[in-house]
Amino acid sequence: MPADLLRAVWGFDGFRPGQQEIVEAVAAGHDVLAIMPTGGGKSLCFQLPALMREGVTVVISPLIALMRDQVRALRAAGVEAGALTSGNTEAETDAVFQALGDGRLKILYMAPERLASGGTVNLLRRAGVTAIAVDEAHCVSQWGHDFRPDYLRIGELKRTLGVPLAAFTATADAETQAEIVTRLFDGRPPETFLRGFDRPNIRLAFQPKDGPRRQILDFARARRGQSGILYCASRARTETLAAALMAEGLEAVAYHGGMEADQRRHVEARFQQEDGLIVVATIAFGMGIDKPDIRWVAHADLPKSIEAYYQEIGRAGRDGDPAETLCLYGPDDIRLRRTQIDEGLAENARKEADHGRLNALLGLAEATGCRRRALLAYFGEEMVEDCGNCDICASPPKLFDATQAVQKALSAMLRTGEWFGAGHLIDVLTGNATEKVRARGHDQLPTFGVGQDLARGQWQAIFRQMMGRDLCRPDPDRHGALHLTQAAHPVLKGETQVVLRHDPAARTKSANVLRT
Ligand code: ADP
Ligand code: ZN
Repeated sequence: MPADLLRAVWGFDGFRPGQQEIVEAVAAGHDVLAIMPTGGGKSLCFQLPALMREGVTVVISPLIALMRDQVRALRAAGVEAGALTSGNTEAETDAVFQALGDGRLKILYMAPERLASGGTVNLLRRAGVTAIAVDEAHCVSQWGHDFRPDYLRIGELKRTLGVPLAAFTATADAETQAEIVTRLFDGRPPETFLRGFDRPNIRLAFQPKDGPRRQILDFARARRGQSGILYCASRARTETLAAALMAEGLEAVAYHGGMEADQRRHVEARFQQEDGLIVVATIAFGMGIDKPDIRWVAHADLPKSIEAYYQEIGRAGRDGDPAETLCLYGPDDIRLRRTQIDEGLAENARKEADHGRLNALLGLAEATGCRRRALLAYFGEEMVEDCGNCDICASPPKLFDATQAVQKALSAMLRTGEWFGAGHLIDVLTGNATEKVRARGHDQLPTFGVGQDLARGQWQAIFRQMMGRDLCRPDPDRHGALHLTQAAHPVLKGETQVVLRHDPAARTKSANVLRT
């Protein structure tokens, strides 16, 4: 299963936009031309199918450094991969030939220049090459900037070996595409994937949690009679929120991995057939769902990563009609997701990457400009204009220079030994001499009371946004005590400015947002 390999080999929770269709086509042995923006995740689209197929996939790539990086990463993940480039040591080359000879190798990277030497094609034939992948396929275009004459030999290689070819590029203009088809595919049009990531009919919206149950009920009530999915972070929450929706007279049903298989199938069938059913689900719901008229997808809790978010909201509005989303998030979510990453079994490098993907989602949640622009930028796609179909475009937030406030908060954190959560730190900042504050002597600190100019609710919004910017992280081993990250130091030193959003809810709010 592609999804299992994705998790086991790469440690990713889901595909990025466009990847899955391409992976399936390549794995099925079709000729494929895929056009994806830089940073969109092309390499996975030939690496993963290579693991699903018999034999060796040969990857032609013009960049030696990139090949070596990819081979190193694949080998670290336990994949038999090798490269034949001019940068190889003799021992490296021997090892590749050895692995080829033993039939162990799955992915062989090769610079196009190698195709010029007569023996190469024979070698590849004997080695049992069953597919070709071409990275930076626009290098075959004689009119482009990156023309590589040896790319012209690839068409010949495909003909001789008689195997499918998948070509990848970020260059989308029609002439280059036509040239790729002529030169790499002998003019026979391959299955072509050129899809922007944007789903303009899906409205994007985030809200900080502020009475989340009420927020969800308001959202669902306003959409009575529409089919929707409400994603929750836990099984228990799917049950309680489904009951709350039912109590409002809405048709809702819970769905999670702990239910019997036939119960789950029953819910799936109901959702497919009925109009206006709300499925309140964990991420277990969705893989096999193919309902074009899902009108909304809401998240009662923050998803795991920006990829997961994109995939889940992408289930709405497949028919192209307007669809809506709402994603709630709060400090507890951030803590939960960080803890899940930290307590997982993955190695450190992977955990850091997971934190990075969570940061990207938090950055989107706390965005100060058009959300779609931020979302697409993450996937490598640039938007010329703001979308006009997100909550920020609809009502731009007021921004303020929060540099000083953040410096105060960070120094309160440092002065108290990075041992406390936001609630206590806000007491210190606002000069609230609680018993705990006095018992620790924190009323004697120079930071005591330096934040009296802001209300408690405003401080809560600042702490949440600080966590969203990854300036501080909750520590799972210390009940959510906050500690500074690397990113905090330039702020403390006054080298970076921090601009935050005024939270309209914050001014009036009391202590229920941050519980630490
Ligand atoms: P491209 O070749 O299209 O420029 P890459 O293949 O180098 O892009 O991928 C860009 C980044 O996206 C890499 O850091 C890769 O690890 C990451 N990436 C790719 N696919 C996924 C996925 N499904 N989930 C999370 N990250 C991904
Ligand atoms: Zn927008």
